[in-house]
Amino acid sequence: MNRITARCRDAVRRIRDRDRDRARARTLCPAVEGLEDRKLLSTANGGHWYYPIRITYSFMPDGTSIGGVPSNLFQSLNAIAPTTTWQDQFRKAAAIWQQVAGFNIVEVPDSGDPVGGVGNQQNDPRYGDIRIGGTPMSMGYLGYALLPPPINGGPDAGDIVMNTSQLWKINNDYDLLSVAIHEIGHSLGMGHSAIATADMYSYYNGMKQTLQSDDTSGIQYLYGPVPADATPNNVGLSSAIDLSSLIDPQGRVSYAFGYVTKLANPEYYKVTVPSTTTGTMTVTMQSSLLSSLTPRLSVVNSAQQTLGTVTGTGLYGATISFTVNNVVPGETYYLVAKAAKSGPGENGAFGLLINFGNSYLPPITPYDTTVAQQPDQGVNGWSPEMTPKDMRRPLRFLRNQMGPNQGDDTPDSQVIAIKLGDGQGVSYADALLATPRRQSSRFRQPLHPRQSSHLRQPLHATHPRPSRFRHA
Ligand SMILES: [Zn+2]
Repeated sequence: MNRITARCRDAVRRIRDRDRDRARARTLCPAVEGLEDRKLLSTANGGHWYYPIRITYSFMPDGTSIGGVPSNLFQSLNAIAPTTTWQDQFRKAAAIWQQVAGFNIVEVPDSGDPVGGVGNQQNDPRYGDIRIGGTPMSMGYLGYALLPPPINGGPDAGDIVMNTSQLWKINNDYDLLSVAIHEIGHSLGMGHSAIATADMYSYYNGMKQTLQSDDTSGIQYLYGPVPADATPNNVGLSSAIDLSSLIDPQGRVSYAFGYVTKLANPEYYKVTVPSTTTGTMTVTMQSSLLSSLTPRLSVVNSAQQTLGTVTGTGLYGATISFTVNNVVPGETYYLVAKAAKSGPGENGAFGLLINFGNSYLPPITPYDTTVAQQPDQGVNGWSPEMTPKDMRRPLRFLRNQMGPNQGDDTPDSQVIAIKLGDGQGVSYADALLATPRRQSSRFRQPLHPRQSSHLRQPLHATHPRPSRFRHA
């Protein structure tokens, strides 16, 4: 085993084990607690992903069965913006969370298999851990997220269903990015915050396109902060990590263990051209399938001249390549891998591929994060084995409020039970409400925002009143 490979793999493993142990311990803790001198008002919903090193998401193709109802997210959102534009709101939302916490999140393809059913809890080969779709719902809802493992133990854990009856906007109310941040927060394990300005506040009360400190504290409580640089010393050409010992007999290097912690921390590598070269050197930086890092790669020669720079600007997870022609055995080249910009996408895992010949060089294989399906653990005293009597109130609510899907409030939270149908029983979800609800009412009406201002009350007397909904 190569020393560099072993060292970096061990570092990755340590981070993974630390995060997993920490997350395990946290599931036993109360959902809300005051810490030291500052008050944290964010909550955890009791779930988290077992392998934070790679959490995936995917977009359900239209027609995907969500409890028997076909998803129509593409049809409805294609009407307001090009597909890439609205999908980028979700991609950016995922990267916004990754930017502040110790996990990688990345998009993968989606087969369109029905939501739920039998499959892996994490790393199902057919779709992302978090699947994003949409169905029409009551206008009181913007969307809901099925809570992450172990609350939901099957492949439906973390899935997001947007209300496709809403008139979605980009950079205006109801703002898709703001709601995507909120729902992905739930899918990662965040509960609601008591702070009205937090993204994880229970109601939509205006655009929130960045995280508040309360949201950041909450997600770091679950997954820890962005990990420290596992290779802190390769900060310049003179301290570049030498990958030459990884060159295989076909003239290829596959280095899987890169991680960019922030824009200001580029990773320097070098490689010496082997005698087996056919005369070209193609260097590839890959964050696609690995993380939401927006990559930027430069190749520098031994005279310290930059031969070229490629970027994946605008992409959250990408594969970029640069080829140098007429390389000569014995020459040394430097590779500078970093983020393309600050903000969402400035951190995350990546791999480097170097090919000095014509042999096929496969992409970096992602870390195996497979967790098999487990029984639902439930939440708030609810269990999948509820009696018919227990189910009566939920089911009535389901029909009244959730339209084609079905849910109900538990007394003191917005966790709802969703009956996905097809004999799958009940799943557990958290909904984002379009408007604040009446304090004492169990049922919410689909109120028009302008008509409902007098009904908006703070959840508790000491909390600030939600700001007025700005109607588009
Ligand atoms: Zn919510």
